[in-house]
Amino acid sequence: MAQLSDDCFAFGGSLLGIDAARQMIFERVRPVGGIERVPLRRALGRTLAEDITAPIAVPGFDNSAVDGYAVRFDDLDPHGPTTLRCVDRIAAGHDPAAALTAGLAARIFTGGALPAGADVVIMQEDCQRDGDLVTIRPGIKRHANTRQAGEDMPLGSLALKAGRRLGPAELGVLAALGLAEVPVRRRLSIALLSTGDEVREPGQPLGSRQIYDANRFILAGMLERLGVDVADLGIVPDDAATLADTLRQAAETTDLIITSGGVSTGEEDHVRTAIANHGSLYFWRLAIKPGRPVAMGQIGATPLAGLPGNPVAALLTFALVARPMIEALSGTEPHVARRFPAIADFPYKKKTGRREYVRVSLEGTAGLPKLRRYHKEGAGMLTSLTETDGLAELTEETTRLQPGAEVAFVPYSELI
Ligand code: AMP
Ligand code: MG
Repeated sequence: MAQLSDDCFAFGGSLLGIDAARQMIFERVRPVGGIERVPLRRALGRTLAEDITAPIAVPGFDNSAVDGYAVRFDDLDPHGPTTLRCVDRIAAGHDPAAALTAGLAARIFTGGALPAGADVVIMQEDCQRDGDLVTIRPGIKRHANTRQAGEDMPLGSLALKAGRRLGPAELGVLAALGLAEVPVRRRLSIALLSTGDEVREPGQPLGSRQIYDANRFILAGMLERLGVDVADLGIVPDDAATLADTLRQAAETTDLIITSGGVSTGEEDHVRTAIANHGSLYFWRLAIKPGRPVAMGQIGATPLAGLPGNPVAALLTFALVARPMIEALSGTEPHVARRFPAIADFPYKKKTGRREYVRVSLEGTAGLPKLRRYHKEGAGMLTSLTETDGLAELTEETTRLQPGAEVAFVPYSELI
């Protein structure tokens, strides 16, 4: 008797592993040219184009980390209190009046420059002030509560490497170095389109057999977070000629094309055929679930990521395939999603040879977090994304999971 399959992954043929796909991406996709200098306030999310070596030391001078009294360590009695005469008052931004000589202390505030000779600061809470005398308890270490010139960034040190994506903290580093402008890679322009006769634009009337386009909003959201320009090409019907024309035009004007839907083996799946006819196809099936049908290739010389139609699969494969392509194109240091150890509180069975991702919520606070599997698992189930915290990653080798087993957890914040 013929066996009908209820597993859409059961069809034969070779599937490419996700690690091999990633390697292929970084081998085949090269950074685009074009470097520009932008003001620091415009640099958020851009990719640094050159190494930044510190043109000044930060901090630029030895200074106090607290409000208190700057003293000479060698003046302090290690066994009992020491009383010193207070001579100066050094606020942040001002010069000390003079070097500190033996037997003297200087009142100093956070960020104030240490006077020459002083090598330790006593917090005001640990001192007793009486007129111009200050008494200090024993037990402090040399250099305590001070910041040494250059201890954060020595003059000439490598502060940030080319390829770093500039987040708020990186902007802080550049600003602290006094740099008003920064060399960054040209912003990528990425064409984004959805495919499908059934797919409609939100806001438009919906036919009885139609669905609204969720993918373009998920994908545009992730693209915008990555700091690229999105060329929104809307929805393209399941028509080979229209799709091929749209892709060929997009290839002329953009750095990367991202599509969703139409990459399976059905007769209405035209993306793969268009790549094969108008460019070259590198792979179209990955050994992952959800998201097996995902194509990578190029139209003309422009790379293309053909993501699956199901929204959960589209989101996951964006993170695993499209994002590395964007990093390769923009010369950005590749992001490696961090995995955290956690405990599965569900059983699971799978085949070897493919990596599977299970949508889960985090539970429990003591010890390793527990992962609860979401009760609906279809790759089209949008609420499975909004109601969970991330993905349990089950390796290619895993075949069976018992509740209580340790698994890797990937929070969505690491992916998108
Ligand atoms: P496909 O890969 O084109 O066969 O699509 C797989 C499933 O995803 C089908 O049920 C489609 O209707 C659905 N789908 C395709 N594109 C979208 C989209 N842009 N938004 C939401 N669902 C989609
Ligand atoms: Mg389709």
